[in-house]
Amino acid sequence: MTLAIVAPTPAAVRHDRRVAPSISGVCLDVDDTLVDYANSTRAGLRALLGADDAWADWCAVTERFYPRFTSGEIDFDTMRRQRTKEFFAIRGEVLDDGEVVAREERRMAAVQRAWQLFDDALPCLQALRDGGLRLAAVTNAAGQHQRGKLRVLGIDAAFDAVVISGEVGVAKPAAGIFHAACAALGVRVGQAVHVGDRLDLDAEGAHAAGLHGVWLDRSRCGPTSGQRRVAVISGLSELPGLITRLDGGAC
Ligand SMILES: [Mg+2]
Repeated sequence: MTLAIVAPTPAAVRHDRRVAPSISGVCLDVDDTLVDYANSTRAGLRALLGADDAWADWCAVTERFYPRFTSGEIDFDTMRRQRTKEFFAIRGEVLDDGEVVAREERRMAAVQRAWQLFDDALPCLQALRDGGLRLAAVTNAAGQHQRGKLRVLGIDAAFDAVVISGEVGVAKPAAGIFHAACAALGVRVGQAVHVGDRLDLDAEGAHAAGLHGVWLDRSRCGPTSGQRRVAVISGLSELPGLITRLDGGAC
């Protein structure tokens, strides 16, 4: 897949009224925001189990082990092995280290074959580019793994900066990773938007760091009323319009 996202000319930016002048940078989460991570992860589990009945268990184990990686307690590969060992232990199967490695490699190979972008990802990136906005990918992951994913999916060149927790040493929702992204883009924190699928790690973390936080709630399962400190969208097609409205203080 090849993506021909190009930056607009200065003249094009100057005459494009779709972009609010107070917003100059947009940070985007990667997994389950641009990339259909859940679908690829389910494909990996099917490769191991021959069935698709263990999604909840996998998510629960991931929620326990992934923060140990993002906090720096263990490295990415150790997290992967420990997670897989625990996942099968829950299912009543005790694996030795060699079998853990073999199954995790088989799972990851299936995951990588299933990587795909959401349908609204490329049009959104192009619209933001056409609006003259600077773009960053901001993601909690291992550097080599995540850069490889962006490259395989053909969107590595779509960003002015790629900020990965495993490389910068700080993970969402900590303010440091959002501030690092803004610095890499050369934009002030208050002139940046961050959008992601996790209300806590992405939207609320960005808001606390001084950015405009946007929660991508693709399932539309989030609260529909009450006080919100962040904006909510149900698809990336809504993001360019939301950014325009931010200029009026509507979000
Ligand atoms: Mg995500």
